Amino acid sequence: VIEIGTPDRKVVTTCAYCGVGCSFEAEMRGDTVVRMTPWKHGKANRGHSCVKGRFAWGYATHNDRILHPMIRESINDPWEVVTWDEAITFAATKLRDIQAKHGRRAIGGITSSRCTNEETFLVQKMIRSVFGNNNTDTCARVCHSPTGYGLGRAFGTSAGTQDFDSVEHTDVVIVIGANPTDGHPVFASRLKKRLRQGAKLIVIDPRRTDLVRSPHIEAAHHLPLRPGTNVAVVTALAHVIVTEGLYDEAFIRERCDWDEFQHYAEFVSDARHSPEAIAMLTGVDPNELRAAARLFAKGGNGAIYYGLGVTEHSQGSTTVMGIANLAMLTGNIGRPGVGVNPLRGQNNVQGSCDMGSFPHELPGYRHVSQDATREIFEKLWGSVLDKEPGLRIPNMLDAAVEGTFKGLYVQGEDILQSDPDTRHVSAGLAAMDCVIVQDLFLNETANYAHVFLPGSTFLEKDGTFTNAERRINRVRRVMMPKNGYADWEVTMLLANAMGAGWTYTHPSQVMDEIAATTPSFAGVSYEMLEEKGSVQWPCNELHPEGTPIMHVDGFVRGKGRFIVTEYVATDERTGPRFPLLLTTGRILSQYNVGAQTRRTANVVWHDQDVLEIHPHDAEVRGIKEGDWVRLASRAGETSLRALLTDRVSPGVVYTTFHHPDTQANVITTDFSDWATNCPEYKVTAVQVALTNGP
Ligand code: SF4
Repeated sequence: VIEIGTPDRKVVTTCAYCGVGCSFEAEMRGDTVVRMTPWKHGKANRGHSCVKGRFAWGYATHNDRILHPMIRESINDPWEVVTWDEAITFAATKLRDIQAKHGRRAIGGITSSRCTNEETFLVQKMIRSVFGNNNTDTCARVCHSPTGYGLGRAFGTSAGTQDFDSVEHTDVVIVIGANPTDGHPVFASRLKKRLRQGAKLIVIDPRRTDLVRSPHIEAAHHLPLRPGTNVAVVTALAHVIVTEGLYDEAFIRERCDWDEFQHYAEFVSDARHSPEAIAMLTGVDPNELRAAARLFAKGGNGAIYYGLGVTEHSQGSTTVMGIANLAMLTGNIGRPGVGVNPLRGQNNVQGSCDMGSFPHELPGYRHVSQDATREIFEKLWGSVLDKEPGLRIPNMLDAAVEGTFKGLYVQGEDILQSDPDTRHVSAGLAAMDCVIVQDLFLNETANYAHVFLPGSTFLEKDGTFTNAERRINRVRRVMMPKNGYADWEVTMLLANAMGAGWTYTHPSQVMDEIAATTPSFAGVSYEMLEEKGSVQWPCNELHPEGTPIMHVDGFVRGKGRFIVTEYVATDERTGPRFPLLLTTGRILSQYNVGAQTRRTANVVWHDQDVLEIHPHDAEVRGIKEGDWVRLASRAGETSLRALLTDRVSPGVVYTTFHHPDTQANVITTDFSDWATNCPEYKVTAVQVALTNGP
């Protein structure tokens, strides 16, 4: 029985789960959340919410939270509970000792897409101006880094082009590699409303998701491609559009580089890219593919929405650029109802990228080698910045194994669970002299830590998150941090212990610093966010009201760039030992590895991950519904119960990854995107066999 008290105040804040960024009223009684009510004035959600934002906030007060700092000399020692002073001094001394012995580039840090913009900005500032190097990376490395790379190259900005309202003006939608019903539920509701009004839908996904067929919704075309063949399918769509003369020549001549278009058109026109030529490879019916291409090119306003089924591949960046090509070919950029729309996974993955988390980019996506940009920060921060790009997460781990990288600060991220090749991650962490983990719970990465700094929840801090439509939403403190400090204050303690003289007393001052140094945020302040509720960047002198739709009169980079997208098969191959392909996804009630949702009442909706397998593949293995099966890849193995369904095609199996017992990353390979190192989580060759139990 849950006793619901009467709230005595309401505070508007932002959901800390997915990239939709729904606004909620936290209805409070004293320091206790009575309920979270979707805020009707929230511009991303307009009064709607899903079961995560509405019900899954109990982790904030869960008994598993660690509220006291802890240290230990060796990872084999027991933890010792210490004061904040002792923990920070211990961590700072260790990091400085490492630098004295191994050089300034022997340490680095990882920012979190769960934390606020202000917290992320401070972590990268500490790494750049206090550590003295660019060894900063973010968990976006393992999800949407190909979006940053691909859209940056094609359009000049590493972000989606539209606001969510835009979907109300669309006539034909491609959803590729995304399952918004489970992953981005509030956006999915808006999309479904538009579909019920008559907009047409093309789903490109190995699995028959709920969007393909559900009450009142039926996709015009479902292209159930073989996992790993996105580039071939997207290029074949372009082949049809170009060879049948369905492209928007006027748009391309005016807005894009014509020479590059001609080169691209020649490439895609080759018969080897035709729907018929790729049918065997992709498993997609050529007639369906041709019909889908014609519909998208001539069906009116065309919008493309995509998710991790696009990015988490060895050709993730190539597919993003292929999607950008499709939008430019058909003139679907720069007005309501069109555009390229990455559905961002985490609440602040857009913001963590905007804030300079990557090792090669300062805030605002400006390369660290640009003297003029470095000077802006050097003047304000009073330190000389490194102009050499730093190490990405996998490179930090490589360097640790080689003995040249010795210290890591990880804020709000469990890299042992979320990064590929668990054995490599643990080997890298074990080789370091100082690992500092700042988190809510004693996570798996903390097994390799020397310092544990308790983290704070979104309910305990002020700040901002930036959602998938570039909307900067306020996060407001509704209760005092149970651990004593908000995450940004902990970073400041560590930076100051290492010699910085930071004097921030409120995150609004950090936002002022972001605005002073980052052109796309130049007009943003807490005062204006109070007044407007939220704003979409770029927000500056040119766009004082923010920018709901980008590239309206021209691309940020000038002319839009068509980029040749040659399909290259993944190195992950099926064969007699591993004949099936595993792909993965999420379920509505749970979030990622479940660290938060499993500690809430939402766990009752999903108490285990299961393996979806086609009845034909099950029958030949003697597997029946509910049987325990052993799922094995070249990397490792695990056990799950079987769910027989034709939602997956023969030859393909599927699971979610919300329960630690599933250990999905023990199964996945260490192949990654050629441009960004984003891991290839969506394609793993596996064998499935009956087994006795877990
Ligand atoms: Fe939170 Fe996303 Fe659900 Fe909105 S759709 S309530 S942001 S998890």
